[in-house]
Amino acid sequence: MARPKKYESYLIDIEGVLVRDKRYEPVPGSLEWFNGLQAQGVRRVLVSNNTSHTPEALVADLVWAGFAVEPEMLVSALAAGAALLESWGKKKLLWLGMDHLARWWRKQGFTLVDGGDCDAVVLGINPDLTIADIDRALPSLVDHDAELVALHRNFFYLDGKGERRFGPGFYCGGFETVARNPAVVVGKPRERIYREALKRVGSRPEDTLFISDDPVSDLVTARRMGMGTAFVLSGKYSDHEILGRLDQEDWPDIITDRPASLENPDRIVGDN
Ligand SMILES: [Mg+2]
Repeated sequence: MARPKKYESYLIDIEGVLVRDKRYEPVPGSLEWFNGLQAQGVRRVLVSNNTSHTPEALVADLVWAGFAVEPEMLVSALAAGAALLESWGKKKLLWLGMDHLARWWRKQGFTLVDGGDCDAVVLGINPDLTIADIDRALPSLVDHDAELVALHRNFFYLDGKGERRFGPGFYCGGFETVARNPAVVVGKPRERIYREALKRVGSRPEDTLFISDDPVSDLVTARRMGMGTAFVLSGKYSDHEILGRLDQEDWPDIITDRPASLENPDRIVGDN
């Protein structure tokens, strides 16, 4: 089998690639692999739909786990969402993500309200979301035409105990039935966050490899934007059966058991 193409830059998903899940235990071999990329001259940016950590805490947790990550290497849905809302001048928010992030939003200059008149209803993951919280969004969306913003639209995620929980995508589907406009989605698989990451890493799409454990939500967009794609089986999926849900033209270029095997992948899909 031929060696895979060399890319000058990597865009890297965090959960399922660098760390197993929200417990932030490194995927076997990922520490050495990631920390060795700099010596190989590979530029790298982490692209994360994470909405449970501030960007600062996310970088700190990765550093604590042993990854040589600098703050400017992270493009997260939370920070991208804040930047987008700021650019629209939407500063008064009903935040339905995790409570502990309220302080972070305020620090970025936003005003948080309990419902009613606001500029946007913003969704991130929230394992403690209650029916009462959901009801608070109704007047904002129905009576005040608040923008519905989902930091990502994943239907489920794995919590700190590794259990499956409903994600913003699930709630967003319900809210959209009453919102004036369809939800604005910030994170993967929407192109916005990929464009931001390409800008940050400073490479053209064709010189960039996107590495993720989710071929459906993460890699299809990257491939359609012209990037190389690598599907690692160290996270959400332990085999490639999921590819049966995709058109063959959306299949990743490389499939490998874990990032550390990327130079020697199990399968290079476009190799024949
Ligand atoms: Mg992932």
